[in-house]
Amino acid sequence: MNIHESEKAAGILENLGYSETNDEKQADLILFNTCCIRDNAEKKAFGNIGAIKKLKKAKKSLIIVVMGCLAQEKGTVDTIKEKYPYVDIVLGTNNLNMLDKAVTIVFNTKKKQYLIDPNEKPDIIEDERVLRTSYPNAWINITFGCNNFCTYCIVPYVRGRERSRKMEDILKEFENLLKEGYKEITFLGQNVNSYGHDLQDGSTFAKLLEAADKFDGKYRIRFMTSHPKDLTDDVIDIIASSKHICHNIHLPIQAGSNKILKLMNRHYTREHYLEIIEKIKAKIPDCGITTDLMVGFPYEEEEDFQDTMDIVRRVGYSSAFTFIYSIRRGTKAAEMPQIPYEISQDRIMRLIKEQNCMTKQLSKDYENKVFEVLVEDTVEKKPGFVCGRTDSGRLVTFEGDKELIGQFVNVKINRSQSASLFGEIVGNN
Ligand code: SAH
Ligand code: SF4
Repeated sequence: MNIHESEKAAGILENLGYSETNDEKQADLILFNTCCIRDNAEKKAFGNIGAIKKLKKAKKSLIIVVMGCLAQEKGTVDTIKEKYPYVDIVLGTNNLNMLDKAVTIVFNTKKKQYLIDPNEKPDIIEDERVLRTSYPNAWINITFGCNNFCTYCIVPYVRGRERSRKMEDILKEFENLLKEGYKEITFLGQNVNSYGHDLQDGSTFAKLLEAADKFDGKYRIRFMTSHPKDLTDDVIDIIASSKHICHNIHLPIQAGSNKILKLMNRHYTREHYLEIIEKIKAKIPDCGITTDLMVGFPYEEEEDFQDTMDIVRRVGYSSAFTFIYSIRRGTKAAEMPQIPYEISQDRIMRLIKEQNCMTKQLSKDYENKVFEVLVEDTVEKKPGFVCGRTDSGRLVTFEGDKELIGQFVNVKINRSQSASLFGEIVGNN
């Protein structure tokens, strides 16, 4: 989501006449797109903003922009004014479309611009200025914001309430991307399954998927993130029967204990979650399932943690993002009693070990079989090699040159190493 937002910022800047440089000393403008989902993301952003001070000193005309979730967080503008006064523009999450105006004002007048719209339900502004950086993959936002208020999460506070884009706007962008030659398009939303609820025109995520599956040609559809409370059977059925939707679902469970799930305000139980997993496995047997897991949430005891470990063993995730719970100011969980960090650290080590063991085991199943892979990129550290993903979302590395990027090839997997698969091309599609 953040990468795609950076693509939008880059599109706006490109329209102003800027082009990309990898050399920060050459830059006339440096933009930080920030995240505040966990404390370390926030610290990292401020660390990077701090490190730029010397560049601004050496080049007075350098324009510095801070945008994204951290910019929208309560108190950030004051912190920036006080500790990083050399930042020229701060743009909240609802103000991205004002980037060009703000840059022009600073360029002409040097007057600082702090643009934070506190509106929790701003209108969606359709804007086609996007500088896409990930051919053959492309992202499309289908919803903005979130209504769920999971008790640990800052997203609803910095991204506002859920707003869905109109289906016709999404499909128009989708079709244009296919015409431009993009081969894999990912629908983005904090909870894609609740897409359309606010539109009241009958749009649903299942209908959107069905419509996007109907275009001609060879392409793939992915989506993230699914919320287990809203993942309905019709979506599973459409994935199973579709031509283009990847057999790959990211379904964050967060925790395996019903007590913790309730405290997190997730609105499902482990039993309900496992029921969905069973349905997915029955209807889409080759589906790659991934998840997000958190340890150290308030009130988590060893017994609760063991419930999370049990889920990892039962589901068989191809991979998982694992996090230590991080206290976020203003959220409900911030008022709950926090557990010692050493306990969280010990738990996350055990969780990662368990998941790695599962990933390794599942990777073995890929060996000596042939999979269709969309070639995505060259491998920087391995000249003469390219990489891409299977339909199920697994990363595969094999010999090939950059002309293959954007092509579907059949790859025989020869060996696996943890989550990575290595193989050789046995044919083009
Ligand atoms: N909307 C998505 C996820 C958004 S944030 C969903 O509901 O699944 C991505 C992940 O960051 C979350 O799934 C969660 O595992 C993690 N996360 C969010 N807030 C966090 C916090 N305060 N501390 C640690 N991890 C957090
Ligand atoms: Fe955060 Fe929950 Fe919304 Fe995901 S669904 S963005 S975790 S509040």
